[in-house]
Amino acid sequence: MQNPFQNAMAQLDKVAKIKDFGDEFIACLRQPDRDIRITIPVKMDDGSMKVFEGYRVEYNNTLGPYKGGIRYHPNTEINEVKALGFWMMLKCAVAGIPMGGGKGGVTVEPKDLSKKESERLSRGWIQKLSDVLGPYKDVPAPDVNTTPEIMEWMADEYGKITGDKTGAVITGKPLDKGGSEGRNISTAQGGFYVFETLRRELGLPEKCKVVIQGFGNVGNNAADIWSKAGHVVIAVSDSKGGIYKADGIDIKKLAEHKKNTGSLSGFEGSSNITNQELLEIECDLLIPAAFENVVTEANAGKIKAKIVLELANGPTTPEADEILFKKNIPVIPDILANSGGVVVSYFEWDQNLKQEHWSEKEVFEKLRPMLEDASKKILEKAREANTSLRMGAFILALERIKEKMRG
Ligand code: NAD
Repeated sequence: MQNPFQNAMAQLDKVAKIKDFGDEFIACLRQPDRDIRITIPVKMDDGSMKVFEGYRVEYNNTLGPYKGGIRYHPNTEINEVKALGFWMMLKCAVAGIPMGGGKGGVTVEPKDLSKKESERLSRGWIQKLSDVLGPYKDVPAPDVNTTPEIMEWMADEYGKITGDKTGAVITGKPLDKGGSEGRNISTAQGGFYVFETLRRELGLPEKCKVVIQGFGNVGNNAADIWSKAGHVVIAVSDSKGGIYKADGIDIKKLAEHKKNTGSLSGFEGSSNITNQELLEIECDLLIPAAFENVVTEANAGKIKAKIVLELANGPTTPEADEILFKKNIPVIPDILANSGGVVVSYFEWDQNLKQEHWSEKEVFEKLRPMLEDASKKILEKAREANTSLRMGAFILALERIKEKMRG
């Protein structure tokens, strides 16, 4: 797989060719403000000591405190964390929140850790980084394989070290520990607001045929939200494979089926399909909601969706992006489509600092207009420059950062 940071820099080069932002400004964005590598010694349950490698990348804080999740994964390494920090910077700028971009991680297979070992690792990550973190400096959040419980341990450890009682140093906490209402569905819900705003402009019908890859937090919630709104979800998949049902899948029943059998396959009235077949189904809307680099040079030519909405981070490679653009298949980019998650994280931070607790209704009433506004502006930017929605989103983000940098 390509180095994700090189991919990110290739995107930066591309936008710099479409719009002249000035060489100095682009040079400022080629490296993070700081990339911090730490070692975390953890006492294992059998009494031995294991040393883990951890990271915090503070990419850019022009718009506000660094913001971005912490990933626990065996393949996590500094270039991935740098790329994700760069994209977080753009995502916050696109959404119009006063936050910068950052990301963190630990190279670890979380399945190999007991709960106690995971707690010691998470507290260790904070102990090594407490000097650089803080509600007004750097505010982490969950990402792949990190949970509200882990955020609770981390917030607690930070409070013990610094005396901070607000909990605003970290978001994605459990509801009874300062978490925000609506956070668990905010990514999918935000994606739906973006889709609703752009649907007619992009020529989609009232009732769309929808295909979703991934049936985890984002994919399952998306399937639920789109079907409740009257669209027809005809195929979904997870890591084991997918199912197809031409007249539409009952998502609630499917979630029960998966809970009972551990898999999507064999769902009543459906046929089993592979993840590759799923990507190639004729539909109005294809939603990758699983992992990065799934739409590639090898399969982009076979995609028959009218539109791709990226709820996953980085599901389309730069080469596939070009192919889809030439085929006139608009891709609604991740930094817009899945930004509902970070906006509600920002709401959590805001509520913690103000010592407030907003209802779910209030949270979504605030989220909706922000994403509608961002979607319209990005469409406008893309049309003005006769480019893709991704480049439109980059242009909007970079204009906002550049303007603030100038002061
Ligand atoms: P998750 O772990 O809850 O779900 C991932 C799903 O993808 C699972 O159903 C898994 O079975 C499936 N999957 C894994 N490998 C697959 C494969 N090869 N083919 C098809 N399906 C596969 O994760 P999530 O929180 O739903 O996140 C999904 C994506 O959305 C990730 O790219 C993540 O970075 C992005 N994202 C999530 C949030 C959030 O709020 N959770 C916010 C922004 C972006």
